[in-house]
Amino acid sequence: MNRTIYLDHAATTRLLPEAAEAMEPYLSIYYGNPSTLYELGEKSREAIENARAIIAATIHAQPEEIFFTSGGTESDNWALKEAVSLYSRMHKGRFAHILTTAVEHHAILNTCMELEQLRCKTEYLPVDETGTVLVSKAEEKIRENTCMMSVMYANNEIGTIEPITELAQLAKRHELIFHTDAVQAYGHLPINVRRENIDMLSASAHKFGGPKGSGFLYIRKDINLPAFIHGGGQESNRRAGTENVPGIVGMGKAAELSHRRMKAEHYKVKKLRNYLIGRVLREIPDCILTGSTHRRLANNASFCFKGVTGEAVAILLDTQGICVSSGSACTTGQKEDSHVLLAAGIDSEWANGALRFTLGGENTKEEIDYTVEKLKMVLADMRVA
Ligand code: PLP
Repeated sequence: MNRTIYLDHAATTRLLPEAAEAMEPYLSIYYGNPSTLYELGEKSREAIENARAIIAATIHAQPEEIFFTSGGTESDNWALKEAVSLYSRMHKGRFAHILTTAVEHHAILNTCMELEQLRCKTEYLPVDETGTVLVSKAEEKIRENTCMMSVMYANNEIGTIEPITELAQLAKRHELIFHTDAVQAYGHLPINVRRENIDMLSASAHKFGGPKGSGFLYIRKDINLPAFIHGGGQESNRRAGTENVPGIVGMGKAAELSHRRMKAEHYKVKKLRNYLIGRVLREIPDCILTGSTHRRLANNASFCFKGVTGEAVAILLDTQGICVSSGSACTTGQKEDSHVLLAAGIDSEWANGALRFTLGGENTKEEIDYTVEKLKMVLADMRVA
């Protein structure tokens, strides 16, 4: 096959042509600074508010509850650091306690580690062998100084969808702020922040057909989360800096389209993903599917292959024109086993051979057939050697 087969949509997605088209005028014609008074600036301002309204509607929030950021990492940093700061301000510098999970993205885990240097203690809710948080064990972890619970909506490595409604309900009962890193879920699953009692939610445009370097944080109206970046008065004085107008416009367009196409895309991708899983499990020995079988992102197929390293398999598949990931893209290059798989109790021997395929709407059955054949070939060669 002489084209690239892209099976790494959890790492990033191609910019939707409609999003690129919507962005273009804001790079060339309407380049005004949104903070200015003249009409050129007004055009940019209007475009930002239009995107804000579109995004708010997709999660059943109010436009004034959406704050534009540079992506998922910034949104996560803001949510956690400022929730702790808020607690500390309200309780005269008292140590805060955060509940999260060991399967979070490093944007959460490393932020928690940083916070531990200051005025906070983090505790990790237990997960089962599919990476699902055990709701029944969560309540006993809540302490008097617990200020927030942060649990990802869906896992970036193994695709497991967490029991967000139940956890947010528990957080509400104990008056904790509930934050979810929905970077892998937003644009792929329907989310209703009101019904699900979500207080804060992080999302990133490049995971749903928007541009890189653009994201948002939803903050429920009555949460007085302090500003994260200080400077001018942008984003209602809470996130300073001249707005990334083209990025915001592209994200708005991608948000609109991903929600409009969600059902059809979900059905199509899931069918193809199930076909891939079925073939791999049937035709390749010494292989396990990781994550949950039923509470799983529609596009995720993640496996562990015994006796090989996932990185070596990914590199060899790349020589065949196939893009897959041996873990989360953000941790590729590090030699450690996946913290997600270890937390799910998968031993190091298996975790070493982790490989993640994440499909998109453009993938075809022909591409999956080609990939499975190449995977069988690569694994057979590696296991003999
Ligand atoms: N959270 C999750 C679950 C992710 O998968 C990622 C990126 O892969 C991030 C956060 C970071 O998002 P961004 O790349 O927009 O900084």
